[in-house]
Amino acid sequence: MKTIGLIGGMSWESTAHYYAILNRETARRLGGLHSAPVIVHSVDFAPIEALQRAGRWEEAGERLVVVARSLEAQGAGLIGLATNTMHICAPRIVAALAVPFIHIATPTATALRADGIGRVGLLGTRFTMEKRFYIDELEAHGLDVLVPDTGITNLNGIIYEELCLGVVREESRRTYVDAISRLKARGAEAVILGCTEIGMLIDDSVSPLPTYDTTELHAQALVSAALA
Ligand code: GLU
Repeated sequence: MKTIGLIGGMSWESTAHYYAILNRETARRLGGLHSAPVIVHSVDFAPIEALQRAGRWEEAGERLVVVARSLEAQGAGLIGLATNTMHICAPRIVAALAVPFIHIATPTATALRADGIGRVGLLGTRFTMEKRFYIDELEAHGLDVLVPDTGITNLNGIIYEELCLGVVREESRRTYVDAISRLKARGAEAVILGCTEIGMLIDDSVSPLPTYDTTELHAQALVSAALA
């Protein structure tokens, strides 16, 4: 099994989930005491978030390139970036690496298509919902993507002001459930939890639509790639 290099810390709350899934999934597939060979490089999120807000994506991307190269130099056989939003910098990271980079949208789109879903709702940060980088990736797999037509500021605030700080509030869960209901009314057949912290708030037991959790799907894809 190859060593997985994981660029984490965005936020560390979701990276902790990645770490657990990587190990649980490896043990499930290999049995016994097997666990994942993984190097996690967890960055300080505050300066990255400040660069996001300032729209300084190239600078943020350069920082992630340095981390990705360092993971490769330490022996990682593949690299994963544990945040949807920062995949805006994915092309820059891919260009800097000799080892494979496993894009978070790929296993997500593959799972949706395998389940016969054509039209899907997307929830995430404002950057993931409003910019094209993520939607383009999903559309390339033949998906029709709907994003909320209202309430984006509130949905975005819940991610940065609550979930990234480990705060889970019932009122915020209702806000997300309402957003999913509106996507369903517009024809979405499923919803992508397109931010690695949303799984802390929403799962199939409360969602009006079947959920596709990018944290879970991406971590599983990293294990598959490491075992391939
Ligand atoms: N973890 C989040 C995501 O998946 C948001 C934090 C970030 O901006 O990286 O998009």
